[in-house]
Amino acid sequence: MSQVDPYVVHLQDGALAEVGAIIGRFSASRLYFVVDESAYAASGAATVLEPCFQDRAVTRFTGFDLNPKLHDIERGIEQFRDADPELVIALGGGTAIDLGKLIGTLSCQDESARDIIVGKSAIHRSGPPLIAAPTTAGTGSEATHFAVAYVDGEKYSVADDVLLPDYAIVDSTLTHSLPAGVTASTGLDAFCQAIESIWAVGATDESIEYAIQSARLSISSLVDAIHAPTARIRQNMCRASHLAGKAINISKTTASHALSYFITSEYGVPHGIAVAVTLSSMLAYNAQVAELDCADPRGPEHVLRRIGLIVELLGVDSVAAACRRIEKLISATGCPNSLALVGIRTDASLQRLVSRVDARRLSNNPRRATSDSLLSLLTKNCVPGKPGAS
Ligand SMILES: [Zn+2]
Repeated sequence: MSQVDPYVVHLQDGALAEVGAIIGRFSASRLYFVVDESAYAASGAATVLEPCFQDRAVTRFTGFDLNPKLHDIERGIEQFRDADPELVIALGGGTAIDLGKLIGTLSCQDESARDIIVGKSAIHRSGPPLIAAPTTAGTGSEATHFAVAYVDGEKYSVADDVLLPDYAIVDSTLTHSLPAGVTASTGLDAFCQAIESIWAVGATDESIEYAIQSARLSISSLVDAIHAPTARIRQNMCRASHLAGKAINISKTTASHALSYFITSEYGVPHGIAVAVTLSSMLAYNAQVAELDCADPRGPEHVLRRIGLIVELLGVDSVAAACRRIEKLISATGCPNSLALVGIRTDASLQRLVSRVDARRLSNNPRRATSDSLLSLLTKNCVPGKPGAS
C-alpha cells in the first residue's frame, strides 16, 4: 500500500465524489464503513458512494448509540478484526467520525479498548487510513486528533496524532437535508468551539486565526442556516465547523465544554446546546481574569486582548453586551440558552453538575475556576427567565 499523504482536505460542494478516487489510489478491496444510516440516505451520500463500493468487500458498522460508547467500540473492534479492512470510511455526525477513529485505531493495538480509553495504556501504532465525511456542520471532528468515548457513563477524550483522519471530505451538500433542530445544535457547537478556542490557554496565533474565521462565519450564518438555508449559507456553516475543528485541534476546549459532558449524559441534551448554555456565563467570568487567578502563563493582559477580540467579533463594545448578544444568538436558533431551560434549576442539581466537571478541559480555561467560583457564577444561570450571568 502506498504512503498516505499527510492530512488531505477536500472542502467543496461535490467533494464526496473524491472517495472513489481515494479507494482507487489505495487499490483497497476491503473497506470498513462506519455510517449513520439515516444520514446516509437523507444526505444523498448513498447515491454517490454505493457505485464506489461495487466489487469491493464493504463491512458496515451501523446501529450505534449517539455519543460513542465502549460497548459499540468493542462490537466494532470485533467486526473490524474479522474483516481486516485496508481503508476506513466514517460518514455521519461527530459520533460516526469519532467511532471511525477509535475502532480503526484501537483494533490495531494489543491493549484493550477500555484500558486505552481510560488512559491506562497508550496507542502504539496507527490503523488503516481513515476518510472522514461529516454530514453535520458542527463538531469539526474530521479536523481533530482526538475522540470522545463514554465508559460506564464517564466521558473520556482519547488524544493521539494517529487519530487525525487522513482525508477530510467537507461537502456541504450533505447538510442540505438536515432538520432545523440538528442544524441549530451542531452549529452552536461550532460557534462555541470557536469562542472557547480564542480564550483557551492552549491557543496559539495559528489556532486564533482559524477560530476568528470560524466565529465570523457562524455569527453571520448560523441563524439563517436554521430558518432560511441556501447552498451558500450551508457552505459557510461547513467551513465554520471545519475551521473550529482546526482551531481546537491546537488549542483544545475549555470550561463550557468541561461542564457540558454531564449535561449531555445526565439530561440527554444535544452536545452543542449543552455547551452553549454556559458560554455567556463563562465569557463574563473570564473577562474578570486577574494576575492571581490567571491560568495562562502569558498573563491576564494577553487573555483580555483575546476577550476583546470576541467582543469585537460579536459586533458590540462591552463584555456585558457580548454576553447578551450570545444569549440572543442562542435564542434565535430556537435552542435553550440557560441551565434552567435544560432542567438544572436547583442548588442540588447545580452542585452535581459542578462536581462532575471535566477537570482536564477546565484547566485549559484562562481564568482558574474552583467548585465555589463555578457555583456562584452559575447560580443565576439556573433561574428561569434569567439566562447567563451578564
Ligand atoms: Zn464540541
